[in-house]
Amino acid sequence: MDYALSMTDERLVEFIATHRRLFVLTGAGCSTDSGIPDYRDEDGGWKRAQPVTFQAFMGEPATRQRYWARSLVGWPRIGQARPNGAHHALARLEASGRCELLLTQNVDRLHQAAGSGAVIDLHGRLDVVRCMACEARTPRAELQARLAQRNPDWAGLAAATAPDGDADLEGRDFSAFDVPDCIACGGLLKPDVVFFGESVPRERVDTAMDHLQRADAMLVVGSSLMVYSGFRFVQAAVREGKPVAAVNLGRTRGDDLLRFRVAEPCGQALAFLLDAPAAVAPA
Ligand SMILES: [Zn+2]
Repeated sequence: MDYALSMTDERLVEFIATHRRLFVLTGAGCSTDSGIPDYRDEDGGWKRAQPVTFQAFMGEPATRQRYWARSLVGWPRIGQARPNGAHHALARLEASGRCELLLTQNVDRLHQAAGSGAVIDLHGRLDVVRCMACEARTPRAELQARLAQRNPDWAGLAAATAPDGDADLEGRDFSAFDVPDCIACGGLLKPDVVFFGESVPRERVDTAMDHLQRADAMLVVGSSLMVYSGFRFVQAAVREGKPVAAVNLGRTRGDDLLRFRVAEPCGQALAFLLDAPAAVAPA
């Protein structure tokens, strides 16, 4: 993509230049250029079937079979994803001393891969698996090997599947899929991410709110704010009189609360941070 052709949004340049401690909230729109699909369309609706809920995952063995079969096929693409311009631009923002915290709704760890250090993974991380009985946390890559070993037919499908793997799984029978349990205790394994219908751990929210207190403005990048766990930080910022701006292609749930919204892809809108580091030199 040739960013040189696009106009830099002066409102955004000024917003970043005039606020010394930004609280940044990022969402799926930040990772689409890395090949990780967004859940929402431009009106904030679901692009495809709604994700599995916590209640269904915990309560229904068939839901877990379906989830892990799809995950076995889809994981390589997520696990191999690399940070894009948006991640690099935000890492540069932190390096310039202007980022109080980067709170991300993404579970792909691409901000950390790009070099951001002050990051809270609001919804957890997909590269770790948690045992719901003994709390043991193990690498997702380890589970991938166990999944593949127990389900060789599915593993073959994973190797042969094109980027949008979901379509190839339609109509398949998941009932014979063999789901591994915790090696240590035999407990139920779940990705260490917050599912729909599950609460974000209180302590994680409190820590992020403490950072918001110390920030002087909030910048939303690539989130429609449809999920309350992220939206509440916008509400809190506004309540405390801190200005909020956003970069998001489609409308957001917080549009009425924003100073402005830049309707561009994240990497394009933030490219100036990479091109002109002087624009964000420490104040
Ligand atoms: Zn266990």
